Amino acid sequence: MFQEKKMSEDYKEMWANMGLDLEAHDALLEVLGKGYQDIYLAQKNRPEGMGYFDFVMSEVHSLRIKELLDEKAAGRKVIGAYCVFVPEEIVLAANATLVGLCSGADFATEEVEKFLPRNTCSLIKSSFGFKLGKVCPYLECSDMIVGENTCDGKKKSYETLKILVPNLYIMDIPQMKSPEGRALLKAEYIRFKEAVEELTGVTVDADSLKKGIEIVNSKRKAVQRLMRLRKAIPVPISGLDALLANQVFFYDNPARFTDSVNKICDELEARIEKKEGVFPEDTPRILVSGCPMAVPNWKLPWIIETSGAVIVGEESCVGERGTRNLTNDSANTVDELIEAIADRYFNIDCAIFTPNPDRLNHILEMAETCNADGVIHYGLQFCQPYLMEAIPVEKALEEKNIPTLRIDTDYTMEDVGQLKTRVEAFVELLK
Ligand code: SF4
Ligand code: SF4
Repeated sequence: MFQEKKMSEDYKEMWANMGLDLEAHDALLEVLGKGYQDIYLAQKNRPEGMGYFDFVMSEVHSLRIKELLDEKAAGRKVIGAYCVFVPEEIVLAANATLVGLCSGADFATEEVEKFLPRNTCSLIKSSFGFKLGKVCPYLECSDMIVGENTCDGKKKSYETLKILVPNLYIMDIPQMKSPEGRALLKAEYIRFKEAVEELTGVTVDADSLKKGIEIVNSKRKAVQRLMRLRKAIPVPISGLDALLANQVFFYDNPARFTDSVNKICDELEARIEKKEGVFPEDTPRILVSGCPMAVPNWKLPWIIETSGAVIVGEESCVGERGTRNLTNDSANTVDELIEAIADRYFNIDCAIFTPNPDRLNHILEMAETCNADGVIHYGLQFCQPYLMEAIPVEKALEEKNIPTLRIDTDYTMEDVGQLKTRVEAFVELLK
């Protein structure tokens, strides 16, 4: 999969023109292709609609990049982002395209550790590795890259990334859910709107902002529908496939993505009607909570779903934390619509906020609505915000008699055997 079949000379030329290191890029695609084959295509009884996502993944560095380059040739700008706090509504309103910069795999680690301490989370290291290794066409085709001041690791690493990525724009993010924090977020969104207007030469008005909100809300509604349907008993879609839809959310064309997710939902409704599941009805149901899993970080979900359990929800930014809320589009002025955007994003309960009681409430609520038998808390090593929250989360879940397993890991495959043993023991306990 991935580019194996599509490695035409055209694409090679396109990648070379973007400054990618072709040898390193080929090596990356080969590893990703094999991973996708072994993890995704080895699954049984997948919804037919997942064929679209297999296609997207097979073209992720080729056709989608070609589309973005065509958009750029027609005068549209591309903006890359590392976090769900960057409002796509504003980007679309300025006639630009937002892409997520995935950061889900290790690359050029030795080189990265010349810039970052070894004990930095895999996600941050990955963002550097993709740049230093010259293997990410999304990064290379972005006209502006947005780094946000969320955790200390990201915030400080952007000071160094700025040397490697001169078009890095820094967005400040509040750390407390106070009126002052809310005002800061709104001010930052106004400043971002102005920066995007300057980049694109397009002035954002109320109509374009409303249109941007509508497009992003439609995308979120489709994913919310998918998230509701996957909670059925028996489960009509694997957690791996549902996660893939959440991952593709960040870089596909929004309208096409929305249609494709809605098609899968139609299929899932028919499956639910027939009580057709991807796993037997009594398969233990797991809610995964914690750090985001960007493409191609499928390690833990793959371990869980090959250990006799099924994932029924992700409390994650690549999951319900990222898509839970819609933006109110009823206002009629730019200022009021930016207010509505700030309101929507201010609800995101990322662990960088202190205190952060909403996240705990959402985990409890999701465990209930997903009929989860247990929760696996996923923390990346050296991620202080999520690893620190994992302890009170586990305590609160166990007080409600919800078995919880805390996993700290990274992007390497070195701990797969050990993780599998722990997950299998946890699944046995749930049975
Ligand atoms: S976990 Fe926090 S920092 Fe990471 S993408 Fe989500 S909101 Fe952004
Ligand atoms: S995983 Fe944790 S440490 Fe890493 S970027 Fe996200 S919040 Fe920061």
